[in-house]
Amino acid sequence: MLPFPVIAIDGPAGAGKSTVARALARRLGFFLLDTGAIYRSLALFAEQHGVSWADGPRLGALAEQLPIRFGRGDEDGAVYLAEQTVTTAIRTPEVSLGASQVSAHPEVRAMLLELQRQLSRSGPCVVEGRDIGTVVLPDAPLKIFLTASPEVRAQRRQKELEARGVRADVSDTRREQEERDRRDLTRATAPLKCADDAVLFDTSDRSLEQVIDDLAAIAKIRLSL
Ligand code: C5P
Repeated sequence: MLPFPVIAIDGPAGAGKSTVARALARRLGFFLLDTGAIYRSLALFAEQHGVSWADGPRLGALAEQLPIRFGRGDEDGAVYLAEQTVTTAIRTPEVSLGASQVSAHPEVRAMLLELQRQLSRSGPCVVEGRDIGTVVLPDAPLKIFLTASPEVRAQRRQKELEARGVRADVSDTRREQEERDRRDLTRATAPLKCADDAVLFDTSDRSLEQVIDDLAAIAKIRLSL
């Protein structure tokens, strides 16, 4: 039984998960747990320690002692790795690829499972990822699976990268997204999949405002807020 209300949000890259999860958490006054940032931080940490993204056993050992911390309050959205700010360093296309590779190792997923559960027990929160409703928090009282068409997802990803000052070609972004989707959908451990009891939500033709209004209304009913 979870001690606080929790909303699990899963879906593929570019479905609008990060933006939606952040805005929904803000609207409801919940803490946001971005689990992708944990896999991204592990990829960066591995690179800093000369550990290959293909080496499952060594990555598992690194994951066990991953010194990650999330900012709260004024520092909302900030990510620290051993007190070093990595908020933007973990968002490059290279680290995206690394996160996708390290997250496919069962040793890594097993090691990061308890960390994610612990972090989501610290208060009312929105937890965003790929396997939150199916594996990390199967008891979450509200699960949402966000999708959008591949074109819309690639365009959004591109805009997000540009806004962060990361230069990328649209066709490269699309290819990178397809590659990550393929890996997330086909990995043996905790593949990306919609939980049977999740609300399936297509964001292709809806504005962020509409999506948040709808999801906040669903949350209020389901979580008795
Ligand atoms: O969500 P984001 O794009 O930041 O996630 C980076 C990568 O981490 C994803 O491509 C996915 O492979 C992995 N991931 C995962 N399980 C999660 C969150 C992210 O496998 N719960």
